[in-house]
Amino acid sequence: MPILTAPRIGIALNMRGCPNRCRHCYLGPAHPGRMTADDLRWVVAQVRAYRRPGATEPLWPEVQVASWVYEPDYASNYRHLYELENELSGLPSIRPTHELASIWRLGRDENYAPWLSDIGFRVCQMTFFGLEENTDWGYRRRGAFKDLLLATERLLAAGIRPRWQWFFTKRILPDLPQMLKLVEDLRLQERCEALGGTFKLFMHCHCPDGEGRRQLEALRPTLDDLQQAPEWLRHKDELQTEAQLLPQLLADEQPFKKSVTDLGSVLWLMVMPNWEVYPNEGELSAAFRLGNLKTDGLQKIVETFENDATPGLQALFHVPVSELARKHGQSENQQIYALDDLKYLWARRWAEERGNV
Ligand code: SF4
Repeated sequence: MPILTAPRIGIALNMRGCPNRCRHCYLGPAHPGRMTADDLRWVVAQVRAYRRPGATEPLWPEVQVASWVYEPDYASNYRHLYELENELSGLPSIRPTHELASIWRLGRDENYAPWLSDIGFRVCQMTFFGLEENTDWGYRRRGAFKDLLLATERLLAAGIRPRWQWFFTKRILPDLPQMLKLVEDLRLQERCEALGGTFKLFMHCHCPDGEGRRQLEALRPTLDDLQQAPEWLRHKDELQTEAQLLPQLLADEQPFKKSVTDLGSVLWLMVMPNWEVYPNEGELSAAFRLGNLKTDGLQKIVETFENDATPGLQALFHVPVSELARKHGQSENQQIYALDDLKYLWARRWAEERGNV
């Protein structure tokens, strides 16, 4: 990966964890522990003060700050943390455009949706795996589906349009007719239009990363399953079977990722309660760990990042896709993928086999 030159970096602390254990979560299994407001101040101070050896100016004059890595606003002092993020960053908050909020809190705290509206939310994403049984199964939390329905009402009452995403697995297929009826019964299109926008509903396959790779791959649909879904609801990207995609990927001699900008417009570092640091690229597992902020320090973490010195970054930036395909491709597999998702799946398998440095 080329050296880091962008003036802006994002820092996200896992201060409170998540109330859910979603089966699609690309971040992987939860990292235990909590962090304090003083921890957040300390980390941001480290990042602001960081200079390359011999440099007089800080590497990152602009720092975006988040007090969450998993579901935002799960902490009971979420309002204070939001203000602290803004105070430490000084940049405009990413929250309203991010469209992510705590469904758990929306189901419990009637003052939360009005607060989201006050800070600029106009749209909020909500995830379903099917009707009640399948959605609670997907979140691995009883009551998740009921929270989603209550959250939808509270968001609309606060002037925020819900955006429903449905995960396309074999489990959702029998639920689809009733889910479409639910959308109609709730008059979501009409109520969103009354708020000046449209109701967005989309269905897509999970990214085969983190928990999605472990928990949902066996339920990934085939082309036959895809035909059972209404055409307008199908994935926007072209989906093909692994068997269909394999020949072109066996001929691709380039690595999956080529530039640091392939990791997103802003690079984020995710800090766990044990001070381990990960890039915002894939699951928070040993194969992606950049180092420990307390024991290794930021200099070592930056070196590890820039030298791709983790199996996860090696798999993304150095191993040709053709090699990943030869090692992990399954020529008989009839499950469907977007092209990049198949590359992710193979890169994760390649990295996992190598553990960590
Ligand atoms: S997908 Fe979001 S809500 Fe679900 S476990 Fe992961 S961070 Fe939590």
